[in-house]
Amino acid sequence: MATIIDGKAVAAKVRQEAAQQVKTLKENGIKTGLAVIIVGDDPASRVYVNNKKKDCEEIGIYSEEYALPEDTSQEELMALVESLNQRSDISGILCQLPLPRHLNEKMVLDAISPLKDVDAFHPSNVGKIMIGDYDFLPCTPAGVMEMLKEYEIEIEGKTCVVIGRSNIVGKPMSMLLLHKNGTVTTCHSRTKDLPGVTRQADILVAAIGKAKFVTADMVKDGAVVVDVGMNRLDGKLCGDVDYEAVAPKASFITPVPGGVGPMTRAILMKNTVKAAKLQNAVT
Ligand code: NAP
Repeated sequence: MATIIDGKAVAAKVRQEAAQQVKTLKENGIKTGLAVIIVGDDPASRVYVNNKKKDCEEIGIYSEEYALPEDTSQEELMALVESLNQRSDISGILCQLPLPRHLNEKMVLDAISPLKDVDAFHPSNVGKIMIGDYDFLPCTPAGVMEMLKEYEIEIEGKTCVVIGRSNIVGKPMSMLLLHKNGTVTTCHSRTKDLPGVTRQADILVAAIGKAKFVTADMVKDGAVVVDVGMNRLDGKLCGDVDYEAVAPKASFITPVPGGVGPMTRAILMKNTVKAAKLQNAVT
């Protein structure tokens, strides 16, 4: 039976370190602040934004929420981002996605100052990740890496398979594993013989968005299985991995809930602290 990777415990440690750094910055007269923009009233987005606010309070990060109506115009949103870019008390800016369809998401993300881009979605930060010389890492893949490190899971020389190639999870996840000298394959909906590929994996990361998609026959004995998925099944939160069937085969596995989710939240706090340091030339 696999060792269960306790994302809550690792996240608590990350948050504790972030809180300590916020305190030190404060002692040096530096305020750490996060602005969160939410447009419209998507219930899932509302939950995420509330959680971010709670995390900020716990850690001592000053937070501002901009809950804008569904019919907000592109110009209004861009003006808000621009004003937040200029403020010295706002270290990080996060725009909760998805935005309503009439808004141009890319334009908004590109307008956030790269130094305040705590989600690491700005093209300049994405480019830096590619090169391996970055200020911020996207929260979810960075959270996965932190868990692997905490559990002393070796990546170098390992066969790593990532299912999913989104800009926020799959692609950067593959890149981070590659930076740690894993031999990485990125799979997607057009991959041929997916189970044949995933069965090669020493480390398998599922970021698909389909409940219980990864079944036991897709997993090698002794593999490390990381489940990024957050799906609803019969009203309950459920990952992309068929946990009950896969856990007996794996050496390590992340549960849902209590795995990658809490790490994503904790890394956002870490990134916000990093942003405050960057803007104030603190090392
Ligand atoms: P996404 O943008 O929808 O990407 C899903 C990826 O899965 C795509 O690359 C897609 O391939 C691939 N895929 C879909 N069906 C497939 C199939 N049958 N076989 C192989 N690959 C397939 O989703 P995302 O934003 O990356 O998120 C993925 C999951 O992670 C979702 O459940 C999301 O809720 C969750 N998530 C969790 C956290 C967290 O903190 N735990 C954070 C972010 C996301 P194509 O590119 O070919 O379409």
